Amino acid sequence: MSVSRIVFTSLNYVGWGALDNLLPEVERFSPKKILVVTDPALEKIGLVQRVTDPLAQRGYDVQLYTDVVPEPPLETGEKLVSFTREGKFDLIIGVGGGSAMDLAKLAAVLAVHEGKVADYLNLTGTKKVEKKGLPKILIPTTSGTGSEVTNISVLSLDTTKDVVTHDYLLADVAIVDPQLTVSVPPRVTAATGIDALTHAVEAYVSVNASPTSDGLALQAIRLIARSLRKAVENGADKQARIDMSNGSYLAGLAFFNAGVAGVHALAYPLGGQFHIAHGESNAVLLPYVMGYIRKSCTKRMADILNALGGNSSFLSEEEASYKCVEELERIVRDVGIPRTLGGFNIPESALESLTKDAVQQKRLLARSPLPLLEDDIRTIYQSAFRGVVTEPK
Ligand code: NAD
Repeated sequence: MSVSRIVFTSLNYVGWGALDNLLPEVERFSPKKILVVTDPALEKIGLVQRVTDPLAQRGYDVQLYTDVVPEPPLETGEKLVSFTREGKFDLIIGVGGGSAMDLAKLAAVLAVHEGKVADYLNLTGTKKVEKKGLPKILIPTTSGTGSEVTNISVLSLDTTKDVVTHDYLLADVAIVDPQLTVSVPPRVTAATGIDALTHAVEAYVSVNASPTSDGLALQAIRLIARSLRKAVENGADKQARIDMSNGSYLAGLAFFNAGVAGVHALAYPLGGQFHIAHGESNAVLLPYVMGYIRKSCTKRMADILNALGGNSSFLSEEEASYKCVEELERIVRDVGIPRTLGGFNIPESALESLTKDAVQQKRLLARSPLPLLEDDIRTIYQSAFRGVVTEPK
């Protein structure tokens, strides 16, 4: 018998219209000065004003910080943390995709610490997070990362990505309102949706999976499988957007507790070296990593096949696990994401440096049901380059 460590955020509002809960929640913190962290595109389309206008009308002192870029580099984090320390804010609100939310929670925590963000990185940092920091409310506008319920902030480095992680990075309040995702363009809907699917799939086969994370992960897969294609085809499809918000939220809770593994470990260097959006990096690798580790988790792959809408009843576990990999390939293809590394203009000559960087992601690789060593990682990148799923020899 093993014991699972399960952590959830303190308070979450999830559903169409959930944003109505913002004002009463802000009031609980009695803030004098609020910092809203968002990306400039959301200010341009008037989305972030749905958060800031009611606060300003209520008389709060609200400052908007829009110096956020997708897949934020370390320097962006350093700048925002300095700004937050100087600004003497007492509530941070992150509004946006994973990029804005990750920066918001990082700033909230490191505002009360000393040193640079680099000092707190998981792979190379020397300092530990010791204090909870400023209160934070996270409001996702994509259905993907689950950052609103996880304890990590991801930052892009020169050739890969790294994280700052501690339970103090968890939001005090998460507000997941699918209304805010209606304007997400199809390509971002596809990438972020496959990111959420990858969280759920990796959490379900993780060595740290538990009955709690299993339930969250399978329900996330069901919701995403039935609605992602619809949300990509028609962003105004209300039910599809609701399913995707719920799916990415549940997938976030699942992977925060069970962890993600090989797909993410191999995806980080694609983001770092080739600046490919996080969801697309996961998407292009998902079938190849799952195909490679298939034999180590056939029963779980059969369960995933059923959650994806397939039927394993008349199949052996082995057959169902093959079918599961095919279904994952199909959904990536259906939402229009390139199926090979070549589709992202990644040359074969880059596979060696990608391999060297992915090997460093020990925190992630440790959750894979099949241990992935350097040769395995190289083989998976080669199969993603050629477009052919391969298995260990
Ligand atoms: P993102 O935040 O970079 O946003 C992608 C694009 O979508 C941006 O151009 C943004 O302006 C646009 N956008 C966002 N919401 C929109 C809306 N409602 N309407 C129109 N456009 C909108 O993308 P993301 O995939 O949500 O986040 C990626 C980042 O999150 C990466 O840095 C990744 O590493 C990180 N991440 C974090 C976690 C975590 O648990 N903390 C998990 C997975 C990924």
